[in-house]
This record gives sequence, C-alpha cells and structure tokens, in this order.
Amino acid sequence: SDKKMLGPLVASIDQGTSSTRFLVFNAKTAELVSHHQVEINQSFPKEGWVEEDPKEILQSVYECVEKTCSKLTKLNINISNIKAIGVTNQRETTLVWDKYTGEPLYNAIVWLDLRTQSTVENLINRTPKRDKNHLKPKTGLPISTYFSAVKLRWLLDNVAEVQQAVLSHRAMFGTVDSWLIWCLTGGRSGGVHCTDVSNASRTMLFNIHTMQWDPELCAYFDIPMDILPKVRSSSEIYGAMKSGSLTGVPISGCMGDQSAALFGQMCFQDGQAKNTYGTGCFLLRNTGAKAVMSDHGLLTTVAYQLGREQPACYALEGSVAIAGAVVRWLKDNLGIIQSTSEIEKLASAAGTSYGCYFVPAFSGLYAPYWEPSARGIICGLTQFTNRNHLAFAALEAVCFQTREILDAMNQDSGIPLTQLQVDGGMTSNRLLMQLQADILCIPVVRPSMPETTALGAAMAAGAAEGIRVWNLDPAHLANVTADTFHPQIKRDESELRYARWKKAVLKAMNWETS
Ligand code: ADP
Repeated sequence: SDKKMLGPLVASIDQGTSSTRFLVFNAKTAELVSHHQVEINQSFPKEGWVEEDPKEILQSVYECVEKTCSKLTKLNINISNIKAIGVTNQRETTLVWDKYTGEPLYNAIVWLDLRTQSTVENLINRTPKRDKNHLKPKTGLPISTYFSAVKLRWLLDNVAEVQQAVLSHRAMFGTVDSWLIWCLTGGRSGGVHCTDVSNASRTMLFNIHTMQWDPELCAYFDIPMDILPKVRSSSEIYGAMKSGSLTGVPISGCMGDQSAALFGQMCFQDGQAKNTYGTGCFLLRNTGAKAVMSDHGLLTTVAYQLGREQPACYALEGSVAIAGAVVRWLKDNLGIIQSTSEIEKLASAAGTSYGCYFVPAFSGLYAPYWEPSARGIICGLTQFTNRNHLAFAALEAVCFQTREILDAMNQDSGIPLTQLQVDGGMTSNRLLMQLQADILCIPVVRPSMPETTALGAAMAAGAAEGIRVWNLDPAHLANVTADTFHPQIKRDESELRYARWKKAVLKAMNWETS
C-alpha cells in the first residue's frame, strides 16, 4: 500500500476532568490530523466529594491511542510517523498507588472536591495571623481545598491502605500526569515516576522560586517526601511507551492543561493571556521569568519550563471552579437540557436572563474570593422566569466570573488586556462568546482550531531536546486563523448587569453565616 508521506507527526494525550482525548498533529503545519475522545465518569459519593477512577482514566488513554491509530491507518497514514507524545492533564487531582502492584490505593480526588474544607479551616486557624495566604510567598497559592497537598493529607489521615503503603515504602503520590507517565512507561516494571514543574506548582509542596519540593512545606503538611515524583522540565524525554501500537515512542512533553493552553495559544511573551472554558474557567497571563505576586486574589504559578537548562516561565492565574460544570448540572441535575450544547438554543430563545442571576458557587468561590463556604444561589426570580432565562443566566455567570478575574488581572499588572484569546469545550457556544465580549467590553478571539491545550502539549513534546521536529517560532504557523467577537452592547448596560452580579455574589458569599 502507498502510505501517505506526511512528514513528522506529534501526538498528545489530553486527560481533562470530563474527558480524555488523544490527538495527532502535523509537526510542520500544526494541523490536527486525527483524534479520538472518551468521556470520563465522575462520582459524587457524598455532598461536595468528587472522584474519578484511576484505572478508567488509564484505560481511556489506551482506548483513545488505539482508536486514533486505527483512524490513521484507515487514512493511509503510517503511525510510525508519530515521533513524540506529550501529556497534558487536569491539574491538582490527587492519586496514590502501590509501586509494586501498580494498583491505585483510592480513587483520584478531583480538584473540585470539597472534603478537605475543615482541614483547610484548621490549617488557616493555625497560621500566625489566621491568614490563608501564609504559604503564598513560597507557593504562589492560598491555602485552599483546591490544591493537592490537602487532598493527600486527607488520604494519609483517612485511608488505611494509603497509611500502610507509606509505612512499607510502597506508596507513590502523583497528579494525573505522573500516574499516566508512570503507567505508560512500564508501571511496576520500570515505570518513570515524574511530574513537570507546572503540575508540581499546583501541589502546594513545591517552592516556585527554587523549583524544588520544599522540605518545610512537606513538614507543614506532614507529607513524607519519598512518595513524591521527581520534578522535570515540561519539555524533555521522560521515557517511552511500553505497550500498544505506539510502543517505543518517546513521551517528551508534560504540562498541566492550563499551561498547555497558554503555550498552545502561542502566549510566549510577557503580557500575553488566554482564558480556557472547560469544567472550570482559567485565565492565565504570562509574566515571563518573574514570579509576580497578586494583590487581587490571583495565583502565581509556574507556566512551563522548556528543557532542563532553560529558565522557568511564570504566569498569573485567575481560576473559576464552575464554568462548563454549571451546564452539566442543568443537564444532569435539573434535566432542562438533554445535551450540553442544547443550552445555546434555550438561552438564545430567552435573549436575556430577565433579571435572573445565577452564582454557581458549588465548590465555594475560587478567584478572586477564595471563599470555600460560599454556596450557589439563583436570585431575581419572578413568575415570568422560565428555563430559558435560567439557561441564559448560567451562561452569563461564566462571563461575569471571567470579568471578575480579568479585572483582577488588569489591576495587578496595570496594563489592561485589549482583547481576550479563548479556547476550551465551551467556546463552541457562539452565544457565550458574544455575551463574553459584551460583558468584558473588549473583543474575544477564538482560534479556529479549538484544541489548543492538546496542541501546547504536542509542541512541548515535539520541540524537546533529542526530538526537535517542531519549530516553535509562531511566524512559522501562518495558517493559524481565528474568529473575533466584538462587543455589541453599550458599556453602561454592561456595567449595570455586572453590578447586579456583584450583589448576587455577596449573597452567595454570606450564605452559611447569614
Ligand atoms: P475539561 O477539559 O474540563 O474536561 P472541556 O474543555 O472538554 O472540559 O469542556 C467540557 C465542558 O464544556 C463541559 O463542562 C460541558 O458542560 C461544557 N460544554 C461543552 N459544550 C458546550 C456548549 N456548546 N455550550 C456550553 N457548554 C458546553
């Protein structure tokens, strides 16, 4: 058979909160050649708890790899053209497994999980000034249920299998990237236990200035350091695939999903920013070689490090816990839509929320408030309100939350963004994009290839030393096109709606005490 001569290809594993994808890109043009996607089940065993099955996550990766490889073969493309694989993942989600059996010792505790709320309150009360920002100078993060250290603390305190494994030196801790790389490179027979600097920077155990696990932080959370993965750069060869159709292909890129999206959107320069709309919403602004500390509730995080000898690149981040998750909630919990994309039809039919405001503080509020005790509210209801208004209010909530983090970002940096680059599963919703431009009063720019997270990880893998099939000069990718959504309402109207949203947030914030 005459297999197509395509030139080098680079693949990426994109393991998100709601699904796993495997995507193959042309290294010369950055075009998406083929891909496959599998949904991931989430379980909610108790109120506020969110878990996923580590084995299901791993199986979904193998399934996506194999399905994509057969699609390539059907396209007459030789899979031996795949020169490298990058990994990008939902961040902070915490796993512990047994290095001798390869078995997970508990479900993965998902980043959104709230079970550590009382642990977090105790930790904050123990700080000298009852200050949630006590560890911020080293970590860039407030003490919150969000980050891995408290989830790991919970596992060590509550799961006998984890305690025993730690005592007998069998335990391995990792975020999803570590779990996948360890399994894919051989697992209990020689798997590589590592993570990259971007993922490490979300654990609260990592010093973002020294770029190492911090003994003081580990002591603070009482975490044994021998269970931690080795920290590597975001772009280097970690190991090779040990089974399946891509056996032998090097894994040479690793970045947390938000870092990968920033990188895939070509935000390489200080001041460039993107917002990703998935389960949550994450606005990251590149701050170059400087770790800038926020005065307005943003996180300081390691964006990426492109090779061992390279300096780290930092970002300021505004994280919103619930974005696409509110759409899923309308589908799964209220049943007012049958599919998540159906929300656009309902919201369009309404054309307004009719004064209804929906603050989806299901997991407390993240940036800029960091208030774990906040709870969701829907207010401004009248006899007239119907499900279409509710759908509209849910989409508007995503836009208002983004406005809050954009305002914080502009205040911290002193240089307002003049447009917003966007990506993620929700951005296929055109109404959402238009609402976002209206509420921000700046244009919203959406690339026509929406898989920027996967692209970023592929770029890191393809540009790694020893691979070098990907040219990182953005000028090289002239065929990257985008759609722009311009604001269509008056600033006064936008400000009025935003002011009402802020009032609604105050009610959500004081929920448990008022
Ligand atoms: P993640 O990386 O967090 O898994 P994705 O980027 O895959 O998320 O986006 C999936 C999220 O986007 C889901 O929460 C889903 O509810 C939401 N979503 C998908 N399509 C639409 C749409 N057309 N309109 C609104 N929300 C959507």
